[in-house]
Amino acid sequence: MTTTFHHIESLRDALQSQRVKKRIALVPTMGNLHDGHLSLVKLAQEHADVVVVSIFVNPTQFGENEDFDSYPRTLEKDMSKLTEAGADYVFAPSVEEMYAKLPVDTKISMGAIAEQLCGQSRSTHFDGVAIVVSKLFNIVQPDVAIFGKKDYQQLAIIRQLVQDLSYPIKIIGGEIVRAEDGLALSSRNQYLTEKERQTAPLLHEEIQKLASHFARGEHLIVGTSALIKKTVQTLTAAGFEIDYLKIRTQQLQPIENQDKQLIILVAAWLGRTRLLDNQEITVL
Ligand code: AMP
Repeated sequence: MTTTFHHIESLRDALQSQRVKKRIALVPTMGNLHDGHLSLVKLAQEHADVVVVSIFVNPTQFGENEDFDSYPRTLEKDMSKLTEAGADYVFAPSVEEMYAKLPVDTKISMGAIAEQLCGQSRSTHFDGVAIVVSKLFNIVQPDVAIFGKKDYQQLAIIRQLVQDLSYPIKIIGGEIVRAEDGLALSSRNQYLTEKERQTAPLLHEEIQKLASHFARGEHLIVGTSALIKKTVQTLTAAGFEIDYLKIRTQQLQPIENQDKQLIILVAAWLGRTRLLDNQEITVL
């Protein structure tokens, strides 16, 4: 049975008795659940006895001109999906329950890792993520927490948060779940027009092609920028406006010639929808 809580104290009370003998997993989400989220619930069930899914559209991670107000909120549908998936507890607090006062005076600054990639165009985003995830960690006190690799930079930032603040929580990254045509599932995909939805899978297709060039070590011969430039040109010609397309180590550091575990990270606008994707690479 799935039980829903809207208040911190009642969730804490319910978890109190479970905590003694059972492992607790947390899956933080903003709701509007799709198969990507549900894959994280499944992963959580493999690592814990009690699975808590939080559903909270967190205002502190949205910039001023972003889609906080219009972000899809579908709590009832989400609950039936979570019941079917066998989640134990759903935590769906109001903004007032989570934040006595906004803006929050307490800041968590994630430093350099949060300033690159998405942080370039969303300067306060990851500090907002760090605040809400810290609060959720303190409320739920899970043994494990599951985050998707879809938001790869977010996952890396959470790992840093856990290390820097000594949270006794194991962080597990779930693989990206995609539509049949390759588009990474995302709640924001529903902003795409029909025509944009047809173009959208090209993002994955092109970064996969680019990944195969890196995997063959071609960047060591022609240089990374030459490889990336071609992909940017193809995507731009198809109608994408590239926010960034970068190659990093899997710890999100600039790459050196000897690095073998790489990742391509991309954010691109298609009309009014910002799409995010990435591809891990092992250089052969
Ligand atoms: P969101 O509701 O968008 O904040 O996402 C909640 C969690 O689900 C985050 O850890 C995301 O990385 C993860 N997630 C979102 N989309 C996918 C996907 N297509 N595959 C796997 N995980 C995902």
